[in-house]
Amino acid sequence: MAMHEPRIYDALGRPLRDLRISMTDRCNFRCSYCMPAEIFDSNFKFLPRKELLSFEEIHRLIQQFIAVAGIKKIRITGGEPLMRNDLSRFIEMVNQIEEINDIAMTTNGSLLRKHAKALKQAGLDRVTISLDSLNSELFEKINGRGVTVATVLDGIEAAQEAGLKVKMNMVVQRGVNENDILPMAKFFREKGIILRFIEFMDVGNSNGWKLDQVVSKKEIFSIINKEMPIEPIEANYKGEVATRYRYKGSNDEIGIISSVTDAFCSTCSRARLSADGKIYTCLFAFGGTDIRGPLREGATDKELQDIIVNTWQKRGDRYSEERLNNTDKREIKKIEMSHIGG
Ligand code: SAM
Ligand code: SF4
Ligand code: SF4
Repeated sequence: MAMHEPRIYDALGRPLRDLRISMTDRCNFRCSYCMPAEIFDSNFKFLPRKELLSFEEIHRLIQQFIAVAGIKKIRITGGEPLMRNDLSRFIEMVNQIEEINDIAMTTNGSLLRKHAKALKQAGLDRVTISLDSLNSELFEKINGRGVTVATVLDGIEAAQEAGLKVKMNMVVQRGVNENDILPMAKFFREKGIILRFIEFMDVGNSNGWKLDQVVSKKEIFSIINKEMPIEPIEANYKGEVATRYRYKGSNDEIGIISSVTDAFCSTCSRARLSADGKIYTCLFAFGGTDIRGPLREGATDKELQDIIVNTWQKRGDRYSEERLNNTDKREIKKIEMSHIGG
């Protein structure tokens, strides 16, 4: 994919290219590694409606990101983005922005049967659907809400029927679903869908992360390679998070996202906008820059752009690289992934 010329750089010389927007901090799943049910229970205080950016506010902010950084691609995430009412209307608004040529969404897939058609019609191009196992009993336990594998597979089908491009994400946890690596690889290869394995990360503070629960990129590679030989292929573009492989003798592709054992901070070019209007410059950030306040107090476009530029220019985050040498970093209070958007 051709990349635009970046316009602003951070303190470590990395451009701002990508924007991920969290539409809500709520989710209909309680994945143990993201929103464990013991913590995100009925007493948990999710953001009240008035604290969420409205579609119009997000739309205005996207335009400021375009003005300063020439952003062309938007990824919508959460929480579960499809928990946000009327999301198609928002997609339609983004689709009308001339400069944006790619709108993608990350979703748990459970609500796609209901929404895929409308999302596609509104202008959504791609979905990344998360699924951690084909064993329904295990998957129902992982998602904490008893949602079956069949429901997600049906969501995948609905997305394909609607004409959306589909990729899959699988978070691999040792002792939980490492035995599902091969069945998942085979199943999605047969379906012609790219599957990306994600190393279990220590995002937020609630998932009780330990390094020995991470199944490394090297291990994932060798588990697949033993059965179905694979070879690395070139990245689509600089800063792509997944290392790409293809099954030898074919064009069938898989990816591994090795945020823990082989950090890619040096090429990380994404900004995240949380549902309550904070800009985060790292997935592992412990604080964000509030842009909703100034927006609601009547800031001009130029003032909003200055906030984005200043936030990016002072960015020095390289959490995953630092974690490799210094595990104490984990003591810092971070923002939960469901808030910041994965
Ligand atoms: N709810 C949507 C979903 O699950 O696809 C979108 C938001 S979710 C936070 C985005 C992605 O982050 C998902 O693919 C999820 O599996 C991944 N994720 C969440 N917690 C993670 C963790 N601790 N380590 C690695 N990936 C994680
Ligand atoms: Fe929800 Fe996605 Fe987090 Fe699972 S990973 S709890 S589906 S936001
Ligand atoms: Fe980017 Fe932060 Fe992840 Fe490094 S740790 S790749 S800076 S989001």
